[in-house]
Amino acid sequence: MARPFQSMAVASRLNSALLMQLVEHIIDGAATNSDQWIDCMEPATGLVMGQVAAGDHHDVEQAVAAATRAAPLWSSMGANGRAARLHALADRVEDQLEVFARAESIDTGKPITLARQVDIPRAVANLRWFADAASGQSASEIYTTARATSEVIRVPVGVVGVIAPWNLPLYLLTWKIAAPLAMGNAVVAKPSELTPTTASMLALAASEVGFPPGVLNIVHGTGPSAGAPLVAHPDVPAITFTGGTDTGRLVNSACAELFKKVALEMGGKNPTVIFADADIDAAINTASAAAFSNQGQICLCGERLLIEASVHDRVVEGLVERAKALTIGDPLDDDTRQGSLISADHCNRVGRAVEGALKRGATCLTGGCRPDNLPERVQGGAFYRPTVLAGLDMRDQFNTSEVFGPVVCAMPFQDEAHAIELANATRYGLSAVVCTGDEARAHRMGHAIQTGTVWINCWLERDFRVPFGGVKDSGLGREGGEEAMHFATEARTICTASASSVDATGAVPREASS
Ligand code: NAD
Repeated sequence: MARPFQSMAVASRLNSALLMQLVEHIIDGAATNSDQWIDCMEPATGLVMGQVAAGDHHDVEQAVAAATRAAPLWSSMGANGRAARLHALADRVEDQLEVFARAESIDTGKPITLARQVDIPRAVANLRWFADAASGQSASEIYTTARATSEVIRVPVGVVGVIAPWNLPLYLLTWKIAAPLAMGNAVVAKPSELTPTTASMLALAASEVGFPPGVLNIVHGTGPSAGAPLVAHPDVPAITFTGGTDTGRLVNSACAELFKKVALEMGGKNPTVIFADADIDAAINTASAAAFSNQGQICLCGERLLIEASVHDRVVEGLVERAKALTIGDPLDDDTRQGSLISADHCNRVGRAVEGALKRGATCLTGGCRPDNLPERVQGGAFYRPTVLAGLDMRDQFNTSEVFGPVVCAMPFQDEAHAIELANATRYGLSAVVCTGDEARAHRMGHAIQTGTVWINCWLERDFRVPFGGVKDSGLGREGGEEAMHFATEARTICTASASSVDATGAVPREASS
């Protein structure tokens, strides 16, 4: 049953983390009631704070039907018409930055300062960049020979299905929907059931700023009940997924059956490689940011710290100092730099990974446990201290499996060849950081490490124009810039014979068509 969205329902959460509220699907421009609900926990407190709709294949069916109806109108509005609406949506999110940041912090446990400074501004930038890029593109490419002119146009695929994770909810949702929308597709998105709020807020805002109903639909629910039917829906020809590698494998299989376009952004076990010739203080700062930002819950975090032996102890000491200095506390406190992990379950998984490593011979240099002295409001939360381990072999499971928490394991290397061997010793290949003062070495390392991105003396620097994605178990396909716009469209070639190449019967001679 569809009814006008009660924005107060979402707003209530934003005024107080203690008020219960419902997060509904947004289908065909309106909030849609649900018969079934899932409890939403606030990870920083461990308390139930509301409920999110538990969608199933009926809700997906309704959303895909709405998107299918909306797509032709949206496409016909032209790139400039769509860009105007995407900018209006970005303006709305920007105007309500504090409200979105608070919702994101409550849902995820991330420090509100991080949400204010990174997540929400980046969501705004995602919408704006793809709006401008799509409207700035030429309508077609023309190739001419003596015999014919080929015009290549890009046609929207129709409805794009988006599956998003919990670690950067609005940042990644907007990253994944902006290109399909800008290129003239309608979208059905399924956010993580753990962090649903800002997705519904965004879709509500889209309706308010003039998106036609059905252009942006949000179906909530678990992966198996709402995500899988979206992936398998025959009227959704393209699926873009961000999440864990095991889930990505399921999504990939389902898409292969139906010959769908699929883009998979999955897990990582990224190395931060520090050479003795680097600016060591700057390298420690970079390694610390890469290890602990967002409580280590960014796919691009560096969980493996590879350090040239001659500076190993100095780097490790510096990192331990930085880890101890991070203020752990209530995510809603402006001074907090380390918030809560996403859930008690996940926090326990991180703890078990560290305990296992210790049993196998690792040394814990800092962390390795939950913090004490937490403020009263968050004493039941899923907090874990930033942790530095050492003393494990590169083949140890701690160094080969993604933990996705504020944990890093330091390993010494002897020379460049050894660093490359260690860096490439996992089944993942998402990103790497290399800290060095030697330009030629930076270039060699950039070519030798098998990942989608290699950052030299920086981390998380993202230019919208460049391809983004992983190799091996980290991903399939690329997002970002033109890659994302191509994913959301099909190239169509319209080949017109020139007059001279057509014979008296009107047929193009055989050799002219080759
Ligand atoms: P997840 O795989 O558990 O869930 C991701 C999304 O998939 C959720 O919305 C979930 O409900 C849905 N899902 C689960 N089962 C499904 C199914 N059978 N069919 C369709 N959808 C299904 O991942 P997560 O725990 O939410 O996120 C953490 C993971 O995401 C980490 O591994 C992290 O590295 C990865 N990640 C990767 C990137 C990247 O760009 N490469 C970015 C962020 C996060």
